[in-house]
Amino acid sequence: MATAKEITEFLNKEIEINSIEDKSCNGLQVENTGDVKKIGFTVDACLETFQKSALAGCQMLIVHHGLIWEGIKYIKGNTYKRIKCLIDNNLALYAAHLPLDRHDKYGNNIILANLLNLKDIKSFGFYGDKTIGFYGQTEVELEQIKEKLKEAGMNLTCFEYGPRQIKKVTIVSGAFTDGAYQAVSLSADLYLTGENKYNYLQVAKENNLNIICAGHYLTETLGVKALMPLLKEKFGVEVEFIENPVGL
Ligand SMILES: [Zn+2]
Repeated sequence: MATAKEITEFLNKEIEINSIEDKSCNGLQVENTGDVKKIGFTVDACLETFQKSALAGCQMLIVHHGLIWEGIKYIKGNTYKRIKCLIDNNLALYAAHLPLDRHDKYGNNIILANLLNLKDIKSFGFYGDKTIGFYGQTEVELEQIKEKLKEAGMNLTCFEYGPRQIKKVTIVSGAFTDGAYQAVSLSADLYLTGENKYNYLQVAKENNLNIICAGHYLTETLGVKALMPLLKEKFGVEVEFIENPVGL
């Protein structure tokens, strides 16, 4: 058991919350009072995940996409309903966006890289002067990669414009379509991401780059899920993943 502030202090250090400039206001976005006995983990801060967390008996919710991006101007409409729900239920909200994409142990992208058993893993995906993803080497058929991802519960949309035999795999979870360009300049065989924009597909096709979109939501469940055993062990709290997919 611990307070949301104590959990925040620990987590901020563990996942290096200030490691990158981010539009998301990372860290503890909404406080509560008292001790946290149970923590919910989910991808999106929204009314439904707040309600589900309160029903599950959580006092704190840890998300990838938070509620506050570059500040809040008005507390009206959805913003009002969401903040009211958090405060009414004494539910603290903690957000970790890009720091939880890029982290080399708990991040969405390193987990995908390890799932594919990539070797010689290096940073990939420049966002400003920092990277948020990884790339690595392998020696497998594209089909084998697709099988592995499906076994891990991912929902694949595949754009197979490149070789069947895959050697270099670049990874950025969620939506980072600039990644397709960056994958091309690295001469990658595959760009694995969450979702991709139409206009980048012609570039991929022209450059023989395979793209697998494994789901924005699904690829970003990995980081928050990786924090569950960490916080359970450290603070003796109960943990629960709060499912709330949107189909993308
Ligand atoms: Zn995202």
